[in-house]
Amino acid sequence: MDLKYVMENLRIYDKMLMNIAKKEGIREQKLEKRIKDGSVVLVKNSNRNIEPLAIGEGVHTKINANIGTSPGLVDVDYELEKAKIAVRYKADTLMDLSIGGDLNEIRTRILKETDVPLGTVPIYDAFIEQRIDMDIDSILRVIERQCEQGVDFMTIHAGITQDMIKGMKERIIPITSRGGSFILAWMIKNQRENPLYEHFDLVLDVVKEHEVVISLGDALRPAATEDATDTLQIQELINLGKLTKMARKEGVGIIIEGPGHVPLNQIKANVILEKKICDNAPFYVLGPLVTDIAVGYDHISGAIGGALAAMYGADFLCYVTPAEHLGLPSIEDVREGVIASKIAAHAADMIKLGDTTRDLDMSNARKELNWHQMFELSIDVDMKTKYSNLIDKKACTMCGEYCALKIVEEYLRN
Ligand code: SF4
Repeated sequence: MDLKYVMENLRIYDKMLMNIAKKEGIREQKLEKRIKDGSVVLVKNSNRNIEPLAIGEGVHTKINANIGTSPGLVDVDYELEKAKIAVRYKADTLMDLSIGGDLNEIRTRILKETDVPLGTVPIYDAFIEQRIDMDIDSILRVIERQCEQGVDFMTIHAGITQDMIKGMKERIIPITSRGGSFILAWMIKNQRENPLYEHFDLVLDVVKEHEVVISLGDALRPAATEDATDTLQIQELINLGKLTKMARKEGVGIIIEGPGHVPLNQIKANVILEKKICDNAPFYVLGPLVTDIAVGYDHISGAIGGALAAMYGADFLCYVTPAEHLGLPSIEDVREGVIASKIAAHAADMIKLGDTTRDLDMSNARKELNWHQMFELSIDVDMKTKYSNLIDKKACTMCGEYCALKIVEEYLRN
C-alpha cells in the first residue's frame, strides 16, 4: 500500500470523524475513543456511498424502520414507498425483512433508492433458498452476496445454542424471532449446533472485508411480558457477550439486539445486563413493548418502553407500528411507527444528552403563538401542510377568544 493512499484515507477518516462529531455534538477525541473501544459503531458498508451513521454511547439515540414483502404480499414499489416515507420522517436506518418475491431485486432497489444504512437478516434468504438443507457454506454465500450488494448491517442469530432448546417449552411463547425460528428448526431437525455460533469466525471473515456491522440477534427475545428476563434470554445474552469479544478482536463492529416484551420495572435491568455482559456494545431494542394487550396500538406501547430503555442507555430503537401482531404495515402504519419511535428517542436524549434546545425553542414559539415556527420544530415534518389554516391565527379553536396564552400575555404586560 503506498504512502499517498494511506495519507489520503487518513484525511478522509479525519474529515468523516469531524463531521459526525459535529452532528452528534460530541468531542472528536471522545468519539474516536468510543469507536475504538466498540461502545460506538459506525454503520456503513465500504461499497456504499452514504454518510456513516454513529450508533452507541454519547451520540443521539437512533431509530430503525422495518419494511419488506411477505409471501402473500409482494409489491416492491409499495415497500419502496414505505422506505421513502420512513426516511422522510427521519428514520435513521431501514431494515429489509422481505421474505416474498425476488429478494435480491428488492434489496438492490432499496439500496439504490435510499441513502440511509440498510440492515438485513441473511438467514431469511438462506432458509428460503434451501430450507432445512442449508449449511454454513450456503449461509456464508448469502452473507457475502449481501455484503457485496452494499448491506450496511446484518442481524446474525448466533447466540441460540442446543442447550437452550429444552427450556423453551417452559415459556408462554417459546420463540417469536423469525430468523431465530429458522435456525432453531434447522438445529432440531439436524441435531446439530447452531452453525452461526460454531462458525462465527467465518462470518467475521466475510463481513470484515466490507466493514459491515453485525447486529447480534436475540432469537430468544421474550414475546410475552411473562417471559421477560428469564434464564433463556440471559443465557443467550451471555453467548452474545462471548461473540462480541471475538468480533472486537477482529475489528468488527457489534450491536446487540434486545427484547421484545418487557414490563416497565424490568427495562432498566435489561439495559444494565446488556451493557455489562456485552462490554458496552450498543444496545438495539425491539420496542420494548411494555404490555401485551395494546394490539392495534403497539407503537404506543413500544414508544413507552423505548423511551425508558433509551433513557437508561439503549442506543438504537426498532420502531413498532400499529400493525404489529396484526399484519404487514401500511404506509400510514410506517409513518405512525416512525413518529412514535422518534418521540421516544428524543424524550430519552433530552435526559441522556441534555438535548433540550429544540424543546425550548418550541415552548417560546408556542408562547408567541408562532405556528410557522412550531411546525418547523415539530417531529412530524408534515404538520404545516395538515394545519396550514393556523399559520396566521392568533389562537386555535380550542379556546378561541379565551386563549390562555393571549390573556396572560395581555395582563402580564400591563
Ligand atoms: S387557544 Fe387554547 S389551546 Fe389554542 S393556543 Fe391558545 S391556549 Fe393553547
